[in-house]
Amino acid sequence: MTVTPSPPSPPDILRAPLIVEFPFTRSLGPVQSAFLTGLRERVVLGVRTEAGGVLVPPVEYDPETAAELSELVEVAPTGTVTTWAWNPEPRRGQPLATPFAWALVRLDGADTALLHALDAPGPDAVRTGMRVRIRWSAERTGAITDIACFEPYEGAAPEGGPAPHAGEFDEPVTGIVAPARLDYTYSPGRAQTRYLQALSERRTVGERCPSCAKVYVPPRGACPTCGVATTDRVEVGPRGTVTTFCIVNIKAKNLDIEVPYVYAHIALDGAGLALHGRIGGIPYDQVRMGLRVEPVWSDDGRYPDHYRPTGEPDADYDTYKELL
Ligand SMILES: [Zn+2]
Repeated sequence: MTVTPSPPSPPDILRAPLIVEFPFTRSLGPVQSAFLTGLRERVVLGVRTEAGGVLVPPVEYDPETAAELSELVEVAPTGTVTTWAWNPEPRRGQPLATPFAWALVRLDGADTALLHALDAPGPDAVRTGMRVRIRWSAERTGAITDIACFEPYEGAAPEGGPAPHAGEFDEPVTGIVAPARLDYTYSPGRAQTRYLQALSERRTVGERCPSCAKVYVPPRGACPTCGVATTDRVEVGPRGTVTTFCIVNIKAKNLDIEVPYVYAHIALDGAGLALHGRIGGIPYDQVRMGLRVEPVWSDDGRYPDHYRPTGEPDADYDTYKELL
C-alpha cells in the first residue's frame, strides 16, 4: 500500500492515488480442480445433482440437498445466452479490451448458466436466446480465462446429452492465484489532512474531544466515544512512551527493514491514545514497555520513519496504563 501525498487542492484537502494490490492464492477441491483442468484440455465439465440436473460451473455440494457431489459430466462448448449486459468501457484485467457483453450462457447439456464475456460488435448484436460458442485461449493454464470469451455461433446443439467424464487428466490443476486490485483516489479528510501537513513540519498535531477531552492522534475528525466533532488542535510529543510492542520476524515484501524488528504502540506525550511505530536504535530484545522514545524523521522529512530511545529513565507504568 502506497500513499503519495500531493499538494493540497481546494478546499485544502489532500488527495492521492492509492493502489491496494495482493495475490489471493486458493487451493481447489476435487470438483473445481477437474473443472479448471478440463478447461485447459478444452473440455467443459459440469457436476450432476441428486435430482439429475447438471451444474456448470460445477460446485462441490448440492445447492438444494447439501449432498456432496462428484459425478462429473462433459457438456458442449456451445450454448444459449440467458441474459446479458453491455460493457462499453472494459477495465484493466477484464476478458476483452474492446467493448463486450457480460453474458450468462447455458451450455448445451447444462441446467445452469456460466458468466463470461461475449465478443460482439455492439449491443444491437446481442440478444437473449442467441446461440454462442466458446472461443478458447491460445495458451491455456487451467483457469477460467482459458475461455477467452464466447462468440456468436449459428450451429445447432450437438447430438446427445451430457456424457459421463472421469475428470482425470495428467497433472491436474490444484490451485489458482486470483490477483485482487483496488485502484482509487484516497482523501484522508479534513482532520488527517491537517495531521499530515503538520507532520511535514515535523510536528505531531492531534485533536481534542470537546466533551471527554481525549486527544486523538492521529485525529479522526470525531470522537468515537462521544460522537461529536473534534476541532481543537493540540500539538503532542514529540517524545513518547512504548506501551506495548511486538517483535516482527517475517520480512515484508517491498519493505527494506531487516528482521527481527519491533513494532510498538507509542503514546506520545499529551496524546490520549497510542499510535503505531517501528522502534530502532536499540536491539530488538531490549525494547520494553515504558521505554521512552522520540521520532527519527524520514529522509524527505514528511513522517517519522521510526522511533529511537531518548535515554530517559523508563516511564512509570501508572503514567501509561490507561493507554495500552
Ligand atoms: Zn469524547
